[in-house]
Amino acid sequence: MIVVMRAGATEDQIARVSQRLRDLGFGVHLSRGAERTVIGAIGDKAVLTGVDLEAMQGVERVVPIRQPFKLVSREFRTEATVVDVGGVLVGGPQIVVMAGPCSIESYEQLLETARAVQAAGARILRGGAYKPRTSPYGFRGLGEEGLRLLAAVRQQTGMPVITEVMRPDQVELVASYADCLQIGTRNMQNFELLREAAQSTKPVMLKRGMSALVQEWLMAAEYLLAGGNHQVILCERGIRTFETGTRFTMDLNAVPLAKELSHLPVVVDPSHGTGKASLVAPLARAGIAVGADGLIVEAHPDPAEALSDAAQTLSLEEFAAMMHQVRSIAEAVGRSA
Ligand code: PEP
Ligand code: MN
Repeated sequence: MIVVMRAGATEDQIARVSQRLRDLGFGVHLSRGAERTVIGAIGDKAVLTGVDLEAMQGVERVVPIRQPFKLVSREFRTEATVVDVGGVLVGGPQIVVMAGPCSIESYEQLLETARAVQAAGARILRGGAYKPRTSPYGFRGLGEEGLRLLAAVRQQTGMPVITEVMRPDQVELVASYADCLQIGTRNMQNFELLREAAQSTKPVMLKRGMSALVQEWLMAAEYLLAGGNHQVILCERGIRTFETGTRFTMDLNAVPLAKELSHLPVVVDPSHGTGKASLVAPLARAGIAVGADGLIVEAHPDPAEALSDAAQTLSLEEFAAMMHQVRSIAEAVGRSA
């Protein structure tokens, strides 16, 4: 439930209500808005029998949260959360485009890609160093050397960087290089990884499991918030359907639905969502049109030679053309890019 304090509630009243809730066994999270403070209380409501919180000084009302995800829900926090990725704000009025190769292959490849996507308007650089591959014979990434290249290119370009972390014991290492941790579709319900990422001071982008319900995705995000990390970005990256003409089916419904249910920013990944380079720009446009806060897109100087996800990777020219179109859509829906 949440306890909404009156507009003029004093610090002392807020502290008393928080303490009362802690004494009753609730976990307490304060959220201070411009007008009023809202106290989130997570725990067993049964202990409230005979307790009248609304009678306490400074309390305006007590609102139960009906959703199974609590901290993540719009009922808990009505204002949109803005996540700061190395100085780039995700979830604000300006949409944010993250772009770069699926896999980091070399310094030259990464720098050339970064410079081109940055010139086209991307503000965060993506690149995989630890790659989850369907086949054990696929390229599995450069590992820590990839992270070093990412940090070197950030140094050169000033772009914050996002990269995937696959194992709980890698979180600290990856977080020491990255501005944002990416949790991939195959790990959305790796609860040990979520618990570890929740301890990180770096924001997390949580990709939707390819067969996960929106509710399961939000419950996975709840692990991050409940563990103490409130800087979470949701990413719709396509789900499994009966369709075989595309690699996955980008679930556009999920974007406005997740934004209705949650205050967290939502970005879309039209690269993995389609698996087909020619469909990336149309679905990028669609994602922004339905209200996504940004995009994550794979681009490479020579897609045909990319060591992973070549078929869905845009050339640097195609990426620039896509950005042009995305900007018009962003403006049409009252955002900028
Ligand atoms: C990726 O971003 O390269 C990736 C592996 O994404 P996903 O987890 O969505 O498949
Ligand atoms: Mn990829």
